[in-house]
Amino acid sequence: MSGGTPPPWLEGEDDPGLPKSSLSIWYHDLYTMGIDPSARFPRDRYHLLEDRIKGAQLPSPIEFREPRPASTDDLLRVHGPDYVDRFLGGRLSDREINRIGLKPWRSSFAQRTLLIMGGSISALEHVCQHGGISGNMAGGTHHSHADFGSGYCVFNDIGVCAKIALEREGVERVAVLDLDVHQGDGTAAILRDTPGALTVSVHCEANFPFRKVASDFDLPLPAGAGDSEYLDRVQEGLDIVSGFSPDVLLFQAGVDALASDALGKLEVSRLGMRLRNQMVLSHVVDQGLPCVIFMGGGYSDPIGHTVDAFLDLFTDAAIANGRMQRATGPEGRHREREAV
Ligand SMILES: [Zn+2]
Repeated sequence: MSGGTPPPWLEGEDDPGLPKSSLSIWYHDLYTMGIDPSARFPRDRYHLLEDRIKGAQLPSPIEFREPRPASTDDLLRVHGPDYVDRFLGGRLSDREINRIGLKPWRSSFAQRTLLIMGGSISALEHVCQHGGISGNMAGGTHHSHADFGSGYCVFNDIGVCAKIALEREGVERVAVLDLDVHQGDGTAAILRDTPGALTVSVHCEANFPFRKVASDFDLPLPAGAGDSEYLDRVQEGLDIVSGFSPDVLLFQAGVDALASDALGKLEVSRLGMRLRNQMVLSHVVDQGLPCVIFMGGGYSDPIGHTVDAFLDLFTDAAIANGRMQRATGPEGRHREREAV
C-alpha cells in the first residue's frame, strides 16, 4: 500500500473482544470471463484484483459475495423496455454495439451484464438494511442512458440503485458522488428529474463524453491537473453532498484520474487517489452515512497501477466499514433513522 497520513478512523485501538465486521463486496468470475480476451477493455483487472485482495493480509476483512442477476423489472426502473428487450435478446444494431464497445461480444456477455447490475443492487440493499459500506467489484456504469449504452456501459447501475433506494428501500435522499475521470452523463440524464436524487461529478473536462449532460453539480478539471487541484474539487463535491444531507451515498470510485491511466488525461498520483478515497470514507464514517462503492473506470498501462489503486480503495473501505459498524452496531443506522 502507499503511504500517507492515517485517516481519523485508523487512529486508536479496536476492542479485541469485538468481532471484526467484514466489508461485503459482490463479485463473479463472469465479470472477467464474460468479456472476450481480445477486447480492448482490460478485463484482467477484475481477477487480478480478486487475487490481490484474497492474498493480502488486510487490516480489516473483506468478504466476497456472489451476485444474482438483476431482474428485468429493476432494469425497467430507468431503462426503456425496447432497449432492455433488444439487448437481452441479442438484437442491438451494430451501431449500438459499437457505441458500447467491449467487442467482440461473447454469449455470456448478457449474463455478465445482469450479474454486475445484480451485484450493485445487492450492495445497495445491504447498506440500506445494515448501514455501513459495501461495494461491487465492477459497475459504476455511468455512461449508460435510458435507451442506449455508451463507453463500456450497457445499463446504468447507479441510476437503478438510486431509484430502488427511493422507491423500494424507504430512502428520502440519495446522493451520487462520481469521481471517475469521465463525466457521469448517463446518470445525470437518468436522475435529472428525480426528486430526492443529487448528482455530483468531478471529471476531466477535455475527455469523454464530449457531449456532456449537466449533473446537478459538475466540477470539471483541465487536462493535466494533479493531486492538489483534484483533491480541492473532491472537497467541493463532498461539501455539496454534505449540504444535501443524504440518507445513502452512491460513490463512483473510478481510478482513471491516475497519471498512469491511458484514458484519463489527469496526473493524479497513487497517494493522491488514496487520499481522495480517505476524504470520502472519513465523511461517510463521521456522518454514519451508508455508502455503496461502484468500482468504475481504470485503464492504466500496465494495468497493475489500476489494480494497486483499487486494492487501496477496498482496503481503506474495509477499515472504514469496520469503524462504522463498531460505532453503531450492525443495525445502528436503522435504529437511529427510525427514532427521528
Ligand atoms: Zn472513466
